[in-house]
Amino acid sequence: MDKQRDFVLRTIEEREVKFIRLWFTDVVGTLKSVAIAPAEVEGAFAEGLGFDGSAIEGMTRRYESDLLAVPDPSTFQLLPWRGDVHPTARMFCDVTTPDGEPAMSDPRNVLKRTLAKAASQGYSFYTHPEIEFYLLKSAEFGDAGPVPVDSAGYFDNVPGGTAHDFRRSSVRMLEDLGISVEFSHHEAGPGQNEIDLRYADALTTADNIMTFRTVIKEVAIEQGVYATFMPKPLTDQPGSGMHTHLSLFEGDTNAFYEAGAEYQLSQTGRQFIAGLLRHAHEIAAVTNQFVNSYKRLWGDDEAPSYVTWGHNNRSALVRVPLYKPDKGGSARVEYRAIDSAANPYLAYALLLAAGLKGIEEGYELPPEAENNVWELSDAERRALGYSPLPASLDHALEYMESSELVAETLGEQVFSYVLANKRREWREYRSQVTRYELTQNLGIL
Ligand code: GLU
Ligand code: MG
Ligand code: MG
Repeated sequence: MDKQRDFVLRTIEEREVKFIRLWFTDVVGTLKSVAIAPAEVEGAFAEGLGFDGSAIEGMTRRYESDLLAVPDPSTFQLLPWRGDVHPTARMFCDVTTPDGEPAMSDPRNVLKRTLAKAASQGYSFYTHPEIEFYLLKSAEFGDAGPVPVDSAGYFDNVPGGTAHDFRRSSVRMLEDLGISVEFSHHEAGPGQNEIDLRYADALTTADNIMTFRTVIKEVAIEQGVYATFMPKPLTDQPGSGMHTHLSLFEGDTNAFYEAGAEYQLSQTGRQFIAGLLRHAHEIAAVTNQFVNSYKRLWGDDEAPSYVTWGHNNRSALVRVPLYKPDKGGSARVEYRAIDSAANPYLAYALLLAAGLKGIEEGYELPPEAENNVWELSDAERRALGYSPLPASLDHALEYMESSELVAETLGEQVFSYVLANKRREWREYRSQVTRYELTQNLGIL
């Protein structure tokens, strides 16, 4: 018996765990959960738990609907919000076909495949997300839109405020779940908060992000407020990004680090960034997957709208953060387009694939953007070769449709599902008459 499985079974017995939730994620990035009794766990390890894939977004076509959820024992944790007495635990699962092959439609498998490709080239991939979200009084909203829980701003300390208690409870809960938090603070928008997870291998980070979203939602319910990861819930306020710091390691060596090079950025690092830039348009429909995502990327509010990189330039799509020269191990690049509602497995697979492509093909890194890209005129930006990110989901889908990189990385099934699903979303959106149009047009036309 595998040691990790053994540990899980023993813990279930010792702690008198009553329910074990098996978690996996659909193509859109929604967490799915099925609870099993302790007696079923051994069987689930051995054979997986059968479920109807056709009932889950993007999982299967109807004629091949049987799938199995196979729990990954290394992800076993007790869920702190379910209490200590007869606790509830969870494990993330890999989804397989009945004959035990990884399901092509499982986002976790898409990321695993891409990580295996990186490993075959000698690289391991680490990520560190900065997750922003809004705390609202409720999910209900009237004519004025959603109501945030406070009117504080960036780094504000709000004594006795909801956000303060909220962050304390959530950070404690995340730590109980084995998820280390690096920073947490109030963000620029009213009711907006940010929590940064410590860097980890990309699969662990993606699992952690799924857990994080659940924890934040649970703590919000406990405190009588509502948490949202919607990319841009308030018209006049910043959106919620999930900037992610990326690094590649070769064994113990950070492959982005080169002492004495410009910004101490190695050739590998430069090529990786060049890959991110070259493929940014194609991957946008996954890093920014909703109609609403593009309302965040309109320009300024520190969300990027042009494909540029820079050293200390917060208008750039890719930023090379400052770090101490003796901290070569922390060399990394920050990708700033991705938002808090992305499916982390698919988005991280594509970021890695884009960067690796840059290395494989030896892409040349264009000059960095030294100025504030938002303050330039369109003509100046054109002259400098700064191409805009897709302006809408429709635009992003056009890029994705003809992308070999995205098709190859996601696999045929996920690729065509995302395209079809998102095209449908765009079609529905196109025919909506918005408040903006009514306010602008109705009284005068
Ligand atoms: N909220 C900004 C965004 O949407 C990011 C602000 C920051 O730099 O942390 O990307
Ligand atoms: Mg932030
Ligand atoms: Mg950032």
